[in-house]
Amino acid sequence: MPVDEVEEFARRLENYLRHGNPRGPKKSIPITQLSFCPLKLALSLRFDVRYFGTKNDGQILGTVLHAGLLDTIVNSWDFLRGNLTEKPLVEVPLQYELEDGWVLSGRADLVVGKHVFEFKFLHEYPYEAIPENIEEIGEIPDDSVVKAYVEQLNTYLHMLPDVEVGHLWIFNRNSLVPWKKISVDKNGDMFDELLKRARKVIKFVESLENGNMPDSFEPRFEWECRNCIYRPICPRS
Ligand code: SF4
Repeated sequence: MPVDEVEEFARRLENYLRHGNPRGPKKSIPITQLSFCPLKLALSLRFDVRYFGTKNDGQILGTVLHAGLLDTIVNSWDFLRGNLTEKPLVEVPLQYELEDGWVLSGRADLVVGKHVFEFKFLHEYPYEAIPENIEEIGEIPDDSVVKAYVEQLNTYLHMLPDVEVGHLWIFNRNSLVPWKKISVDKNGDMFDELLKRARKVIKFVESLENGNMPDSFEPRFEWECRNCIYRPICPRS
């Protein structure tokens, strides 16, 4: 094995032992947070805040329903598959390389052949406000969380080479059935926009590391500030 390959291996092993991540500290950007406030994400990455506070009842229920649905699909696949011939893959890990060791990372809920699925269980946003299909997305209010969900799924479509169609399934946690089924096609402009946002977050992290609080930003959705843990230090508050 050439020496430089061993050096890279040693560097990664050291990072893994020190930070639990072969790339070193704070280098992985969660896709699920990229559609929201860039400063909030940069602060979480800078200070390695993974979770803060107690989950509310709605979040607990959403977690359990999510796990239960995936188990049901996998355990009953032979009865549920219909015309689908491929095996279901759940919680598929995804990574997209940016520069300087940064990566976008996420997990696709379900992949079956050329289809990727993302399941959402609403607990704060009103289910009635969710559109029935993608054509209505442009008409719903700018503060709709559905836009963030579509961006997330579109990112998965760009990270999974064999997948062609995204399916955003949104469940009302009070009744589950029926649910909204929104098909999402690959959109290159939307993905480029998300990459721009990721690079902005990286610059924010670098500013924070140099002791400077970024000031040219705004939350993606106005409601984000309401429960944000960074309000005491945020220049907007
Ligand atoms: S308070 Fe609002 S603007 Fe400030 S970091 Fe939090 S979400 Fe972003």
